[in-house]
Amino acid sequence: MKKIIILFSAIALFATACNNTAEEESTTATEETATDTAPADEEVAAEITIDINGGDDMKYDLAEIKVKEGQKVTINLHHTGKMDKTAMGHNFVILNQGVDLTAFATEAINAKDSDYIPADSKEVLAHTDLIGGGESTSVTFDAPAKGTYDFLCTFPGHYGTMQGKFIVE
Ligand code: ZN
Repeated sequence: MKKIIILFSAIALFATACNNTAEEESTTATEETATDTAPADEEVAAEITIDINGGDDMKYDLAEIKVKEGQKVTINLHHTGKMDKTAMGHNFVILNQGVDLTAFATEAINAKDSDYIPADSKEVLAHTDLIGGGESTSVTFDAPAKGTYDFLCTFPGHYGTMQGKFIVE
């Protein structure tokens, strides 16, 4: 048995090209750019809409409303009850500052012909119509000077439980 030794003299010149694929460490740092979402102090929405509900339980669902000075304010009043406006009427009346709420409400009782808003009253800053169950109404006005104003329903006997503060900041 001849052993054939085959010598593979392979002279291989491997020119290993320098594969300097310098992996650029592309550390695209996804920095969370802290976008300031907080509105600047001077940024005030030009308009604001407030929804307020009143039902047969003779109550508003808001005791306090806050707006910014100069805003155009829209108040949407919804009567969520079922009773007629002659028995359970609701409106939304904001009084000027300095007006006595109880005295005004008492005076308003006599103004049935004008839906309990005393005629040419200088005490009223803004008011809606008087509505009954299932109805809605609204009033739009410019927010007055900064301060706290009273709001109420002027239907006889309602102001005791239907009143709150309208605050202009
Ligand atoms: Zn009412």
